[in-house]
Amino acid sequence: MGNRHDSAVARHAQQETATAPRGFREVLLSPGDCSGCGACMELAPDIVGWREGDERPFLVSDMAPDGVLTELMAFCPEGCFEDGDAS
Ligand code: SF4
Repeated sequence: MGNRHDSAVARHAQQETATAPRGFREVLLSPGDCSGCGACMELAPDIVGWREGDERPFLVSDMAPDGVLTELMAFCPEGCFEDGDAS
């Protein structure tokens, strides 16, 4: 239920601004150095997915709450995640 509400809030906010909704950041995933540890998917399964048979994750959503992106950037041992709104 929380996710549905969060998505509705994100959609609403997206309509009001051209950039990331307040409290959300654009997620950039560059899996070039990915070791396949799976930490990102365990940490944020709403944002990062993994197809069976793949060696690397993919983005389910390119928007994530601030705190979630911060955790992804902190916990990925290979530095595959970046804040797209930081540049
Ligand atoms: S946390 Fe980083 S290194 Fe580990 S699977 Fe995810 S992208 Fe790859």
